[in-house]
Amino acid sequence: MPKTLPTTGKPSADVLADLRAMHGDDAKWKDGKTFSLVYYAGDEVSQLLKDAYGEFIAENGLSPVAFPSLRKMECEVVSIAASLFNGDADVAGTMTSGGTESIMMAVKAARDFAKKTRGITAPEMVVPCTIHPAFDKAAHYFGVKILHAKTRPDFRVDLEDMERLITPNTALIVGSAPPYPHGVIDPISDIAALATKKGVWCHVDACLGGFFLPFAEKLGRPIPPWDLRVPGVHSISADLHKYGYAAKGASVVLYRNGGLRRHQFFTWGGWNGGLYASPSFCGTRPGGAIAAAWAVMHHLGEAGYLARAKSVLASTEKLKAGINSTPGLRVLGEPHAGVFSFGSETLNVYELGDAMDARGWKLDRQMDPPALHCMVTPAHEKVADVFITDLKECAASLAAGHPAPEGSAAMYGMVGAIGDRTQVNEFLLDFLDGLFERV
Ligand SMILES: *Cc1c(COP(=O)(O)O)cnc(C)c1O
Repeated sequence: MPKTLPTTGKPSADVLADLRAMHGDDAKWKDGKTFSLVYYAGDEVSQLLKDAYGEFIAENGLSPVAFPSLRKMECEVVSIAASLFNGDADVAGTMTSGGTESIMMAVKAARDFAKKTRGITAPEMVVPCTIHPAFDKAAHYFGVKILHAKTRPDFRVDLEDMERLITPNTALIVGSAPPYPHGVIDPISDIAALATKKGVWCHVDACLGGFFLPFAEKLGRPIPPWDLRVPGVHSISADLHKYGYAAKGASVVLYRNGGLRRHQFFTWGGWNGGLYASPSFCGTRPGGAIAAAWAVMHHLGEAGYLARAKSVLASTEKLKAGINSTPGLRVLGEPHAGVFSFGSETLNVYELGDAMDARGWKLDRQMDPPALHCMVTPAHEKVADVFITDLKECAASLAAGHPAPEGSAAMYGMVGAIGDRTQVNEFLLDFLDGLFERV
């Protein structure tokens, strides 16, 4: 019998108990055994996020006129981001629901800007092959042709390949600070200089690094230039719900000036329902996400972010050293922040991932080259040593010829053997169909 709406309701305490029981099979992020999806900054921060979100759970960021509180918070969050990214007073932006929306908005703004200023009607964008799929999604949604430039052996984008892919229809080119797969920041200064030379828009995807790199830099880490100090950068996406430690549903997209941002906005003055003006993709915008982001920034302050960045960097160094001292394993490239991946020339890393899964760890699998992925957060400080011990044992067991427990290795092996990855799309569509089957 498919699920239907219950005829009569249940007391809220019972419903909450049901909800809590459903956590049972979920990834155990709080104990540090998960390496993506959740950025946990401690119980006090979690409680503050809940309280702040709850305080504004009903308010709607679509109407800053009705809710001047949300307008003030959003403007302040954007201003704080602009100053962290070393922008001047002209910098303008908005909050969005996440990295994907920030990226979509930047792509749309660049597309519309290219149409208006250069008459481009068949827009294209050139991105590194390590770029987040949100750009492919934006290309798909907004009718922009996307061209992927290859990376160099150090995992940074190959500038010559980027330049080769630029045509008179190129609306924007992009670099990541850092890209998700290997965490090695693209040569943003060179990409922005190339954009300037070609007269195109340059976007920096700092969804991952935006609220981490400024603090790593303050801690004395050598961080290559990536922010608004780089001439030629037009826009930046940065996720508050990652290393900003905000509640889910919060990101910012910034532009060099308000004139560029105007191309993001949507307005419609001909509706029976009244004058409609929407800053970003979503119509209704959850006030809770805005309030929680504002709250965590004011709670942590620079000192709180610095302390967390320090913990992440220290755990990252420890993990990288442990991986590099494990026979057969090596960290790929020279990652700049708390995100990196590791591969092997001698072991099947997918089998290694399955062996680690069996011990309760959760590491994302990557392709080209096969690798396992680590996204380090403050939750990993207390488990870094156990992780290394488990990893060394699992690697040694595989090296000795013991079979790995069953997991996703067979599937990744199969996908890896397919040269044309577009063929995988049907398989992925079936996967989604299956996931969202009627229950
Ligand atoms: C997470 C991420 C995104 C997309 O952000 P969502 O919030 O998942 O939509 C984009 N770029 C990079 C580099 C990311 O890590």
